[in-house]
Amino acid sequence: MTAQPDISRADTAALYDAHVLKNYARAAITLVRGSGCRAWDDEGRSYLDFSSGVAVSSLGHCHPHWVAAIRRQAGELVHTSNLYRHPNQGELARRLAGYAGPGRLFFCNSGGEADEALIKLSRLYGVAKAGGTEGQCFKVITARGGFHGRMFGGMSATAQEKIQKGFRPLVPGFAVAELNDLDSFAAQMDESTSAVLLETIQGESGINPCTPQFLVGLRKLCDERGILLLLDEVQCGLGRTGTFYAFEAAGIRPDAIAMAKGLGGGFPIGAVWIAERFSELFTPGTHGSTFGGTPLACAAGLAVLDVIEREGLLAKVREQGAEWLAELSALVAEFPQKLADVRGRGYLVGLQFAVDSAPYVAGLRERGLLVVPAGGNVIRVLPPLIATRAELAESVQILRETLRALG
Ligand SMILES: *Cc1c(COP(=O)(O)O)cnc(C)c1O
Repeated sequence: MTAQPDISRADTAALYDAHVLKNYARAAITLVRGSGCRAWDDEGRSYLDFSSGVAVSSLGHCHPHWVAAIRRQAGELVHTSNLYRHPNQGELARRLAGYAGPGRLFFCNSGGEADEALIKLSRLYGVAKAGGTEGQCFKVITARGGFHGRMFGGMSATAQEKIQKGFRPLVPGFAVAELNDLDSFAAQMDESTSAVLLETIQGESGINPCTPQFLVGLRKLCDERGILLLLDEVQCGLGRTGTFYAFEAAGIRPDAIAMAKGLGGGFPIGAVWIAERFSELFTPGTHGSTFGGTPLACAAGLAVLDVIEREGLLAKVREQGAEWLAELSALVAEFPQKLADVRGRGYLVGLQFAVDSAPYVAGLRERGLLVVPAGGNVIRVLPPLIATRAELAESVQILRETLRALG
């Protein structure tokens, strides 16, 4: 079946040019249909979609179980607001807490919103720590190269000039320390510090993982000094690394977790898990979201968890991801002038180019592989969690051809 678009590619491009805000550098293709790991453009060309819509489409495109769940829920009840209860939100909270530990969930609609909730938690905690006085304990230490979304709190927590430029003054209270350097974090910790906020594996800046020793040491430091450890798992969580949350590999548990991207499998939903003993800092009226955790969004989230569990995807991502990483690493030896490093875990992989990576993103697309650019000449390859050995092998083949053909 080829796609039957209503309007031509040129017309779509013209509509974007005339009417859509120019805040993205979009690739010049128009996608019209998807199934599993494949997406089709308006000319009927198929792509192996290892962008997953930036780590979002965890079940690939239009997984039958996910589609059925959304269809069923859409015909039953879509939105109620948080003035009332709905079984789906309670059930999704129960299942997410099953992975995170004793604690409570708050639902929102995006990663940025989840990060804002973490930052608001740090403020409430700081006030409690300062005996009820505001404005004394609100410093949040973040990691250089981190990314916490585009909202004011998260943007202020994102120590990257390209993200913050033009939007100052920022929200005060954020300090920056060096990733994987415990001394650097310890040096920033004082009486005014309420929390540490960081990604377990930095995504946007180029797949830079926290080492397990660093996370264990940070957990200890935070415990000793009464500082919250807040982990942004918006990109690396929800099974992408082969454990449900990426921090599980270090054997630690944070005090709160931000999630979004893969959680809804393409339907917008974000969530925050807060450990039981800090969850009561949010009392009625202190935070909210009109759309957060609708019956429909939670149905999508439940469908994602169903498939991850029923199809044993975590184990598959661990095993197949390790084999795939080994094959990708062989490309570094084959093309040392072009490819400097391959790193990551599970289906969260970064290819560090020794040269400008932008032509490779385009070259891969022309050869049928969709990937995601990241900072520092890194290309992110983010297969859906359902990707098979054959599909992973196909990506290696396209990468090899592209590395051979370009520059
Ligand atoms: C994508 C991302 C965000 C922002 O999520 P949005 O849904 O775009 O608001 C925040 N933190 C991390 C780690 C991300 O990767």
